[in-house]
Amino acid sequence: MALWFTKSFGLGIQGIQVKEKKTGQTHYLEVENDAHKGIDSLNDEDKSKIEQILFLLDKFCVGDSFYHELTMAVSGLPKSYLVKQRRDQLNDICHIDPTPGSAEGAQMSFTGLLKARVQDLISRDQETNWKEQPIQVKISGDGARMTRNSSFILLSFSLLQAGDDVMSSSGNHTIAVVKGSEKYSTLKESFGTVFNEINETIKQGHITVNDSMYNVEFFLGGDYKFLLLMMGMKGATSIYACLWCKIAKDLRWKMEFDLDHYNTPPLVRTQEEMTKMSQKKGTQDKYSCENEPLLKIELDHVVLDELHLLLRIMDVLINNLVREAVEWDKKQNANKRKADHKDSHIKTLQSTVRSCGISFDIWEKTNADGKGSGQYDFTSLLGSDKNKLLATLPQKLVTCTHEDTCQTVIQIWEDFHELYTIVTDKNPCPDTIDLYFTKAKNWINLFTSLRDVRLGYKRAAVTPYMHSLVYHIPIFLKNFKSVKLFTGQGVEKITM
Ligand SMILES: [Zn+2]
Repeated sequence: MALWFTKSFGLGIQGIQVKEKKTGQTHYLEVENDAHKGIDSLNDEDKSKIEQILFLLDKFCVGDSFYHELTMAVSGLPKSYLVKQRRDQLNDICHIDPTPGSAEGAQMSFTGLLKARVQDLISRDQETNWKEQPIQVKISGDGARMTRNSSFILLSFSLLQAGDDVMSSSGNHTIAVVKGSEKYSTLKESFGTVFNEINETIKQGHITVNDSMYNVEFFLGGDYKFLLLMMGMKGATSIYACLWCKIAKDLRWKMEFDLDHYNTPPLVRTQEEMTKMSQKKGTQDKYSCENEPLLKIELDHVVLDELHLLLRIMDVLINNLVREAVEWDKKQNANKRKADHKDSHIKTLQSTVRSCGISFDIWEKTNADGKGSGQYDFTSLLGSDKNKLLATLPQKLVTCTHEDTCQTVIQIWEDFHELYTIVTDKNPCPDTIDLYFTKAKNWINLFTSLRDVRLGYKRAAVTPYMHSLVYHIPIFLKNFKSVKLFTGQGVEKITM
């Protein structure tokens, strides 16, 4: 019928009025058909077929008129008006608003999005009794630098139980994005509405989907900088930079305390204490708590994911290798004419890393006048590259580190690899966790044992991540079995 166009406007034809040319008499012809039935009358299979078509049309930027022509030429394809109707429905669900505050940004309704995802999870996994266990929601955030002066902060969530085999649910669902620098005031202002919605849901402890109530459990994840901001804390270089305890920076290298020491009062942190400390006037006894935490998520649910742990600790290890090579060359060049200067150790390190199948460069940074600054930089690597490096580089390090410390450096790399393997194990047994704690302590001691011989291994070089690897990761392993659960791979893919 040539009246298909009405359907693309969402109009269903119920009848046609016709007029006889000779007599002028009019007739009303009632049209009885199924075709005008809307998208809602379709079964799930047909609906999902339509969503797939919609996805393809959007992905390849194909217009509706093209698809309509295609359905005319090829029989059996879902009608174009159904595709259009489904798009309208989806657009209604995903209502995008500007974020409050002065920075540019866009946001969606968190509860709306959460309900849609939970509904999807429940309908896909009907074997699980979702009334018996809470649905675990992880809020994540990450800053992504776009140009020298602008960056974006992305707030997203994922359902931890959605698993990683189903594309549609494993990903991070963006809640809001804002263009601006990654600081507390921006987060508070621009994500204010979203945070209120999340905090309200946390307070209620449940959400209602299809007239049924489901309990929810909230987690917060992201890189360390983001987590500190969200908790209202000072930066990672401040004295009390640990998110979970009040250890002072200059004690981080000490490995003599047991697990409880930093995870029970008086040293363990709580939301309540952080809020109180942030409200204190002056600078005394604040332990880096500058502002009130933005989300009411308790600290044992503020989680480190293994990806960021790998990224940041590997930064330290790679940086130390580069510093060693640079110093080595400098020493050998010390009494030589400029023309005779060589960078053989830098070159060896570069080629050794490359031999692991990774593109890697080390270069000297230049000053404003274009001359060498004596400072070196190197290619920043993605998680997948760092993973590969951790597995293949240690045994090759003999060629690019000093003979007297070579075995220790190799051991540092290999032991970290071992620790990381336990951290990423999907189901480590309790014995392994106790063993892990001892191994992690030994690892820090091994690291700082090079403090007087090589650059970068000083006691002060023990970062908050390294301290967490020893004193907080075991707690997460005990509470949640695995840290793998919290991985932020989706986020890295979006922002790097
Ligand atoms: Zn700590």
